[in-house]
Amino acid sequence: VAASSSSSSPATAAVATTEVPGVMKAWVYDAYGDASVLKLDEAAAVPALADDQVLVKVVAGALNPVDAKRRAGKFQATDSPLPTVPGYDMAGVVVKVGSQVKNLKEGDEVYGMISEKPLDGPKQSGSLAEYTAVEEKLLALKPKVLDFAQAASLPLAVQTANGGLDRAGLSAGKSVLVLGGAGGVGSLAIQLAKHVYGASKVAATASTKKIELLKSLGVDVAIDYTKDSFEELTDKYDVVLDAVGQGDKAVKVVKEGGSVVVLTGAVSPPGFRFVVTSNGAVLEKLNPYLESGKVKPLIDPEGPFAFSQVVEAFSYLETGRATGKVVISPI
Ligand code: NDP
Repeated sequence: VAASSSSSSPATAAVATTEVPGVMKAWVYDAYGDASVLKLDEAAAVPALADDQVLVKVVAGALNPVDAKRRAGKFQATDSPLPTVPGYDMAGVVVKVGSQVKNLKEGDEVYGMISEKPLDGPKQSGSLAEYTAVEEKLLALKPKVLDFAQAASLPLAVQTANGGLDRAGLSAGKSVLVLGGAGGVGSLAIQLAKHVYGASKVAATASTKKIELLKSLGVDVAIDYTKDSFEELTDKYDVVLDAVGQGDKAVKVVKEGGSVVVLTGAVSPPGFRFVVTSNGAVLEKLNPYLESGKVKPLIDPEGPFAFSQVVEAFSYLETGRATGKVVISPI
């Protein structure tokens, strides 16, 4: 937004700067529990801006299982204090910048995961609101080929998929099995394994109705878990990414010297836990693959859910049957 010159009338000057209200619509809960604790607050405080943060007018958000687990009180010991505006994922437009912000400016279209450590001191004022304040370093410019809903679907899941595969040492020519291939994380892990890491063989599990989807995402081997137990098949993999909570079985199908990265549930050796952290540089690194269409967001066809439908969206996510990402748009 260009600064207005001294010759501008006051009316023109007002148009040249983005007006940020003091209050906003936001989903909020003031007690832990099921989805019914969520209330739409029509006059929540717009979060204060720290020097290293930008204020974003949120256009779209997305849900992750961690939002539901946090709301249920599973991370109370390390959570921010109640009341909580939930939400980690968002895409939107920068409307204000803090004094130490170096690269972003008003009007930039950005996306990202708004809390650096999702389980450890996550922001009290999250992304399921009209405005959210985010450190510049956690954000990236939105790929131009993606709309806001598509961009909002990515940050937490794609950084989990990327971080997990990276930590497991996946590299060109290796094989990988993704447990939970049709979910938010799995659908992106399959595509990253194939197109970013150059895996020679990508296998994944899902139920019968989602087998065609796995193939469309690029898997070489689609395992229908309602018919076959992956741990009883003869194939072994260099890397296993567990996005289901099957760590005990996952270690049975890894090659000697390979890696099993477990995102949820119990960890059996040699498996190890990975927990995502937010980093805008990782999104910037992946942007070319998104721009080229090699890696595509997968939005669950039940959505996008309207901002007024956040309770329904949570309930749907919590069935554990979502295909790709549960998106909230527009906000
Ligand atoms: P989703 O809600 O998107 O996963 C839903 C998908 O899981 C469905 O498509 C379902 O497919 C599939 N699924 C469920 N059970 C099985 C099964 N037995 N075998 C294969 N697929 C199955 O979740 P996310 O992908 O977002 O997250 C997955 C897990 O990883 C969650 O527990 C989440 O909390 C965790 N996680 C951990 C992170 C970390 O940093 N450690 C970060 C992100 C997520 P179908 O209907 O065919 O069963």
